[in-house]
Amino acid sequence: MNYWDERFETMSEEEMRNFQREHLGKTARWVYERIPFYRRKFDERGVKPDDIKTLEDLSRFPFTVKTDLRDNYPFGLCAVPLSEVVRIHASSGTTGKPITGPYTANDLEQWTECMARCLYAHGVRSNDICQNSYGMGLFTGGLGFHQGATRVGAAVIPVSSGQTERQIIIMKDFGTTVLFATPTYALTMAEKAEEMGIKLKDLPLRIGSFGAEPWTIEMRKEIENRTGIKAMECYGLTEFGGPGTGFDCVEQNGLHLNEDHFIFEIIDPVTEEVLPVGTKGELVITAIQREAMPLLRYRTRDITTLRREKCSCGRTLLKMDKIYGRSDDMLIIGGVNVFPSQIESILLEISEVEPQYVIIVRKKGYLDQIHADVEAKQEVYDLGPQKISEVEKMIEGKMRGIIGIGVKIRLVPPKSITRSEGKAKRVFDERKL
Ligand code: ADP
Ligand code: ZN
Repeated sequence: MNYWDERFETMSEEEMRNFQREHLGKTARWVYERIPFYRRKFDERGVKPDDIKTLEDLSRFPFTVKTDLRDNYPFGLCAVPLSEVVRIHASSGTTGKPITGPYTANDLEQWTECMARCLYAHGVRSNDICQNSYGMGLFTGGLGFHQGATRVGAAVIPVSSGQTERQIIIMKDFGTTVLFATPTYALTMAEKAEEMGIKLKDLPLRIGSFGAEPWTIEMRKEIENRTGIKAMECYGLTEFGGPGTGFDCVEQNGLHLNEDHFIFEIIDPVTEEVLPVGTKGELVITAIQREAMPLLRYRTRDITTLRREKCSCGRTLLKMDKIYGRSDDMLIIGGVNVFPSQIESILLEISEVEPQYVIIVRKKGYLDQIHADVEAKQEVYDLGPQKISEVEKMIEGKMRGIIGIGVKIRLVPPKSITRSEGKAKRVFDERKL
C-alpha cells in the first residue's frame, strides 16, 4: 500500500475541484447561519453562500485575519454549542496573544486522518516506535502527532519536549525508529547525543517528522548528516486544527497539501490580489470540512509558492514550497526584504560555525541594522581573535554578495546560545522594545 488514503491522495484535479466546490458551498452556508461574525462580513460585502457556483467565486468572499480570532477570543468564532466541542487547543502564541482552536468529534477524526496521511507518507508504519518530542498540551503538535501515529498503528512514546538527556536514553533503550520534534529541537537532541558519546547513526532511528517552525533545506541536510535519518516535514497551524495541513513525500521537494480538507490560495499581502499558481506570496487557507471553527480565506501570514505538478510519489495533491518565513518575521532593511531563512541558508553553509544563531535588529540613527550572532566551532574559537575576525568578515562578505545587504556578524563562543526545545526564537527586534 503506497498511500494512506489513495482515493483523495491520487484524485484527479477535476474530481477534486468538484469535491471542493461542493464542500465549500456547505461550509459557507454553515458559517453564515451559525457565526454572527461571518454573517456580518458576508452582508457587508454583499455576498451570499449561494453565490458560490464555481471555485473561482471564493475570491469574492472576505478574508479572515489573525486579529479577527483575537477579537473573538475565546469562542466567538465557534459555530457549534460548547456541548458539541470535545477538545480545545490554543496556539503557542509565537506572535502575540494565543488563539483558540475548538474541535467537534468529527474535527478530531479528520485531523487524525490528516496526520495519519502525513506520517504514512513519511514512511511510518505499524511496526515503528515513535518518540513524540513535541510539547504535549495546549500546543497542537503533541496531540496531533500522537493521534496520527496511533491511527497508523505505530507505538507512540509520549515523552513531550525537554529533559534532553533523558530523551536520548529513551531513544536508545526503547529502540526509537521515528522522532517527532521541531527541527531545532532535533538539532539540540543530536548535539546532546554527541556530548553523551551516543552515535545516533548506530541507533535504529531512521525517520524524523519535523515541523512547526520555518527551517531551510540547509538545516534539513545538517540534521540528516548529523543523525543519519531522513528528515521529513509537516506543516499546519492551530487555526486549522494543527499539524497535518501539508506534508512532504519521498521526493522531499515541496509539501503536498490536503486539498480535500482545505482550499489554498496565494495572495499579494499588500494588494490582497489572488496570484496565479507558481507565484510567491501569502498563503490563504479555507477549511471545507471542519465544523467547530471553519475559517474562510484565512490569511496565514506564511510566505510560500504553490505548485501544480506531477510528483514521482504518485500523489496528485497540490504542492507548496517550503515556507520562506512568516510575513511578521520579514525584515525590511534599506528597502530590501530579508527573511531570517535567507540568513540561515548562508550561515549553515559555513564550515567554521555551528548551526546556532540569533538575529538582532537594531536601529542606528535612522537606519535599521541586522546583526547575527553565530556560534564558532570550538576549533575555530580556539584559534583566537584574529581568526574569529577573519571569519566574521568572510561571512559578512557572503551576506552582502548573496542577499545584498550588510549583516553585522559576531562569532560567539561555542554553546553560548540557548538551545531550543520547541519552536526556536531566533529574531530579536530591538526596535520594538
Ligand atoms: P503560533 O502562531 O503561536 O506559532 P501554531 O503552533 O499554530 O501557533 O503555529 C503555526 C505556524 O507555525 C504556522 O503558521 C507557520 O508559521 C509555522 N509552521 C508550522 N509548520 C511549519 C513548517 N513545516 N515550516 C514552516 N513553518 C511552519
Ligand atoms: Zn510527492
